Amino acid sequence: MTGLKKTVIRSGLETLYFSAAHHFLRPFVGGIGVILTLHHVRPPRLDRFQPNRLLEVTPGFLEGVVRWLRRSRVDLVSLDEMHRRLISGDVGRRSVALTIDDGYRDTLQWAYPILKKYQAPFAVYIPTSFPDRLGELWWLVLEAVVARNKRISLLIDDKEQSFECITVEDKRHLYDELYGWVRSFKTEEELRHVVRDLAGRYQVDIAAFCDELCMSWDELNTLAADPLVTIGAHTVNHVMLAKVPEKSARSEMEMSRSVIEAALGTRPEHLSYPVGDPTSAGPREFRIAAELGFKTGVTTRPGVIFPEHREHLLALPRISLNGEHQQLRYARVLVSGAATAMWNGFRRVNAA
Ligand SMILES: [Zn+2]
Repeated sequence: MTGLKKTVIRSGLETLYFSAAHHFLRPFVGGIGVILTLHHVRPPRLDRFQPNRLLEVTPGFLEGVVRWLRRSRVDLVSLDEMHRRLISGDVGRRSVALTIDDGYRDTLQWAYPILKKYQAPFAVYIPTSFPDRLGELWWLVLEAVVARNKRISLLIDDKEQSFECITVEDKRHLYDELYGWVRSFKTEEELRHVVRDLAGRYQVDIAAFCDELCMSWDELNTLAADPLVTIGAHTVNHVMLAKVPEKSARSEMEMSRSVIEAALGTRPEHLSYPVGDPTSAGPREFRIAAELGFKTGVTTRPGVIFPEHREHLLALPRISLNGEHQQLRYARVLVSGAATAMWNGFRRVNAA
């Protein structure tokens, strides 16, 4: 995220908080609850180049948020309970469901003890290639290539191009450019091709990220045994489903459910679309997920849950606890629904 964008978001959150607008807006914008998104939960690192920092919060921040939620007039609920409340119309107090994507080892090490302490139900969405140790965490490959080199060459439109990245500022800029470029591809295949090419040129071991960062099936079994935990599907290869052919999108969703069932003995009924923005999951993916019988599907489209989402159970919005904005007051504004109401122009459902 660019510095300017971060500043704009932060000052918007500050304005909503200090004007107390989030308080009086809540009855109109708060809906029946919120599904929160987390990725990494781990102690802060000192590196100045951390382009994926938005995907991690500290254990202290998570504990602050959960402690505040426990004291607030909301119910911390599982996805099954959120689903039940939505379809039955049984909506008394607002509900908050916590979800953690990707199955990083820090979920077990840092998030789990905190969520257990506060008896907060949560879901973990697993791309099965990660515990199978075949996953490609391509955003970390890009980060490693830029972090470890002073100059990078790659093929762009069949032409060899070269970029200098000596200073931290160079690296941040180049990462943003590369990230934006690969995300602009029409197909997942093109993205993987570029990332594999870079990994090969600069000796980055793609598979090593799985071993280092992601839970094994044994570790996942420990989590799955706890009734607080819901294991959800997140495809096999963590692909942007809208960027693969329909047949592959269907088998990515279906296969991941079967693999999890075989490994953990529990058949996932809830799905998270990888990346989850409108370029990665749209009406075709929502339809396939419904045909496969998933109870809910979550995106990363920002928003709270309204009664109208009963008709869009496979296209639920979430609110991310973003590592760039780790202040309890921002979390309060986000959970109130005020910030996302502004961003969405007060439109309640976005499933197109
Ligand atoms: Zn993911």
